[in-house]
Amino acid sequence: MTEKKRIALVAHDNCKADLIEWVKLNWQRLSQHELTTTGTTGKLIEAAIGENAGISAGLRKLKSGPLGGDQQLGALISEEKIDAIFFFWDPMHAQPHDVDVKALLRIGVLYNVITACNRATADLVISSPYFSGGYERRRPDFAAYLNREIL
Ligand code: PGA
Repeated sequence: MTEKKRIALVAHDNCKADLIEWVKLNWQRLSQHELTTTGTTGKLIEAAIGENAGISAGLRKLKSGPLGGDQQLGALISEEKIDAIFFFWDPMHAQPHDVDVKALLRIGVLYNVITACNRATADLVISSPYFSGGYERRRPDFAAYLNREIL
């Protein structure tokens, strides 16, 4: 049985077609997990796979990325409620919410969340036996930081 993961799907406008195509190709696998998206990405995924399929897969749409969706997702990561993020960010265009994008990528790395930022990595991650099996990612230990001495 596939172990349910909490997966986030996000794409910048110029990368949305690529992510949607990838989601369609991998829907059978993805739909076995708990899916969270930023607003517009989620809307387009529902349009591509059918709203009912999205609803029955429990797809949860946050706000649109530039309107706070990236920050909502970052908050979920810091609450340890996301295991993997497929984030097709645009390497060729600056975003109005560049700082939010950077923050999201940073918090994902900090919490050791599985992070795929392009199609090749997404393909490898989703086809890995770890993805459907019981991969236990290491939880970072922040004790030393939390207990640091402040002079
Ligand atoms: P969107 O947000 O899916 O609402 O377009 C994507 C992003 O984070 O820029």
